[in-house]
Amino acid sequence: MSTLRASTPSAATHQGAGRYAPSPSGELHLGNLRTALVAWLFARSTDRRFLVRVEDLDRARDAGTAGAQLADLRALGLDWDGDPVLQTDSGEAHEAAIAQLASAGLVYECTCTRKDILAAPTAPHAPPGAYPGTCRDLTDAERAAARARIAPRLPALRLRAPEGESRLAFDDALLGRTEGDIDDLVLKRGDGTVSYNLAVVVDDAAMGVDQIVRGDDLASSTPRQILLQRLLGLPTPPEVSYAHVPLVLGPTGARLAKRDGAVTLSDLWAAGMASADVLAMLAGSLGLAGAEERVTASQLVSRFDPAALPREPWVWRPASA
Ligand code: GLU
Repeated sequence: MSTLRASTPSAATHQGAGRYAPSPSGELHLGNLRTALVAWLFARSTDRRFLVRVEDLDRARDAGTAGAQLADLRALGLDWDGDPVLQTDSGEAHEAAIAQLASAGLVYECTCTRKDILAAPTAPHAPPGAYPGTCRDLTDAERAAARARIAPRLPALRLRAPEGESRLAFDDALLGRTEGDIDDLVLKRGDGTVSYNLAVVVDDAAMGVDQIVRGDDLASSTPRQILLQRLLGLPTPPEVSYAHVPLVLGPTGARLAKRDGAVTLSDLWAAGMASADVLAMLAGSLGLAGAEERVTASQLVSRFDPAALPREPWVWRPASA
């Protein structure tokens, strides 16, 4: 895939790596670009390699925009080491991880639909929205009957999460100590797609990623991912660090979206901004550059201090507003 190729190898001395892992479901908007910049700054300011992974597992959402996303990162001056990794190339590793959990008795089939889950009575003390455990302890005969009932649909596979542990806490460089729910998460959907949580954990470990920087909408997934790391015997905090970056909000206060106007790099180019203007705007929003200051991404590396990053979402307003 020559369009995905491009990197300036850096003189990394740290053994670990940071990464940016976009889903190719559309063009990156300012919020995505800002998170990518922060992830790159975290990695480069700690002499880590910076890796890119295209999260193309969910074919239903794959709009084939990986090439354009990578071109946007390059236009802002972000570089990465080696070729981008395609998540769909790691199918065997994902299956091996599920097999490893299964051989430890930690996987069960689940035939519940979303509707079944909402209708089921929740177990006492279970976190809201947690899987109620309907399929967890079926007999072989009950499982066969459940399978037959949903045919030709196939069951999903769920993790048998340890009992008596419904919360897990981790230290986040931006959010501080953060606690979230853990439950019998889906490992593989009935349509055969491996779940985001399973794939991310397996791929980050395989790529040697020890610094995970991403949007704070994913902070609630982190306890589940740490649980999977532990059960799979993979590197886990404190060896792996997390930073969840506050999101960018649109003028209405809702999460930035395409409807908010010129929010992608190509929109902003069309509106007369150069890539350098966009980088300057993002750097300003992170407190790394003055209003009129022109900077390059590499100049920002020495200015970068995670402790000084804004902890509040950045509210973006169109220049004309
Ligand atoms: N692919 C996910 C997204 O685009 C991010 C995954 C991650 O950083 O762990 O939202």
